Amino acid sequence: MGITGVFYHESFSRRSYLTVGTRLSDFPKAFKEFEKYENFKLIESPEIDEELILQVHTKDLLDGVRLDSFCSTAWRSAGGVVKAMEMVYSGMLRNTFVYIGAGGHHSGRDYFWGYCCFNDVVLGTRNLRNKYGDVRIAVIDTDAHHGDGTRELTKNDQNFLHYCICPTSYESRDGLKIDVSYFTANYNRAVRDFENYVVKFKPDIVVWYFGHDTHQGDYGDIGLTVRDYIEHARIIKEIAEKHSDGKLVVVLGGGSVSSIARESSLAIIRELLK
Ligand SMILES: [Zn+2]
Ligand SMILES: [Zn+2]
Repeated sequence: MGITGVFYHESFSRRSYLTVGTRLSDFPKAFKEFEKYENFKLIESPEIDEELILQVHTKDLLDGVRLDSFCSTAWRSAGGVVKAMEMVYSGMLRNTFVYIGAGGHHSGRDYFWGYCCFNDVVLGTRNLRNKYGDVRIAVIDTDAHHGDGTRELTKNDQNFLHYCICPTSYESRDGLKIDVSYFTANYNRAVRDFENYVVKFKPDIVVWYFGHDTHQGDYGDIGLTVRDYIEHARIIKEIAEKHSDGKLVVVLGGGSVSSIARESSLAIIRELLK
């Protein structure tokens, strides 16, 4: 059995996603339960290289992020995702959960908003392409909000499947950019249906952009609970095992309640370790 890597940096516990306080206040202490696992590895998220940032974003965006105090953790947040995608793709890790302080999916080429600074997953994709050529990435985004930045940056990318469960419905003509509305679809069914697209797409690696803002009592509340997230983790891990040789990177997205952050992320890591 391969190693499950967990990417984290202590700065994420000082500032994560919030204007007041931090949702990751229980970390790194909460990782203690994993000490007994031989296949668990805690990895410090490195800072991202600015040369890579400028291959995805404009200089104006980089300057704007530098001036925004809510983005102080952006370099290590995106750096962890870039490193995680590379280590899973290259087989050094079996799968990963990546904590962040600043989010990614609302960051486009020249704009950032909604607690997002650099587009972590698109930067991770660019890094893999620089090193390994046309790597095929399948992303499932279960944050409560539409991943507008990721969609903008990948809209013409035939090697990037973007399956987003959000408030709207949409499917591009090539079937590679999909929005499934949680107002009309059963949520767990929608997660299962990701496989229908993955089968045709044949990804090299699966990325789950996981927001717990969908949880009861969090700011994007659509009534989900940690039990649902465990179910999603099982489904998505099985899809990765069947279609991308088990290569799965889970990236933390939105959410602000610290008890939900702790319970949901630990529950997902337990599934990754199995
Ligand atoms: Zn969100
Ligand atoms: Zn969407």
